Amino acid sequence: GAPAGKTTGGGGRIDVPGVKHIIAVASGKGGVGKSTTAVNLALGLAANGLSAGLLDADIYGPSMPRMLGVTEKPESADGKMLKPIERFGLKTMSIGYIVNEDTPMIWRGPMVSSALEQMLRDVTWGDLDVLVVDMPPGTGDAQLTLAQRVALAGAVIVSTPQDIALVDARKGLAMFRKVAVPVLGIVENMSYFLCPKCGERSEIFGHGGAREEADKLGVPFLGEIPLHLDIRTTSDSGHPIVVSKPDSAHAQAYKNIAGRM
Ligand code: ADP
Repeated sequence: GAPAGKTTGGGGRIDVPGVKHIIAVASGKGGVGKSTTAVNLALGLAANGLSAGLLDADIYGPSMPRMLGVTEKPESADGKMLKPIERFGLKTMSIGYIVNEDTPMIWRGPMVSSALEQMLRDVTWGDLDVLVVDMPPGTGDAQLTLAQRVALAGAVIVSTPQDIALVDARKGLAMFRKVAVPVLGIVENMSYFLCPKCGERSEIFGHGGAREEADKLGVPFLGEIPLHLDIRTTSDSGHPIVVSKPDSAHAQAYKNIAGRM
């Protein structure tokens, strides 16, 4: 079942010894491709030569088991600390490795915070240049607490180009600013559709909205990722595009964004 863990309410700052930088990947709402982006950016950081880790903090809908093809359970040498599971050179941890994927997560805020705290503190992350945290979607209390308590070096916000998604992205930005976490920039996902057959480009959700928004809000625009079948299929098969098609334009786009973070 779910990790026990006491409810910590306010609590102190969560530092992770050995980890130089913790970077949150966040979105104002679900379904914009936050997790896909977090995984590929973490792999992009690793491809750029950094020692990187990935924490799936999206505990309502953990996607790392599927996206990284992890079926094994994390081991513990001493019955207290969990060993992260290594995939494609990344040290990874997800609540989905521990609880069954079909178990509904109906935890309340404080339990979410304490589960996340455990995944940060009670995992032998070791020495890492950067730990990417795939945040739960939205800007509620759980997210705010997390942004406040984890010693974040910065946050990356993922948005699609539609106005409605950008409104939520703005809320995400406001949340990080409220707790004085630097926003490293905005990524526009599903920026345009690339037909896998003919290569034709269609701007289904409009295009460029996130760049304009970033300019307006005074934060860097980190880059755009198209909506492409390969990104979805590689993710679903447990071999994200940055490692399964490292020479593709999409993999390069993720690596470039990772380089700008
Ligand atoms: P979120 O974490 O924001 O809920 P996910 O990363 O789980 O979103 O993505 C939702 C769905 O969209 C997944 O099936 C994923 O494979 C797909 N997806 C995300 N980004 C892209 C993209 N750029 N091109 C194609 N499919 C994508």
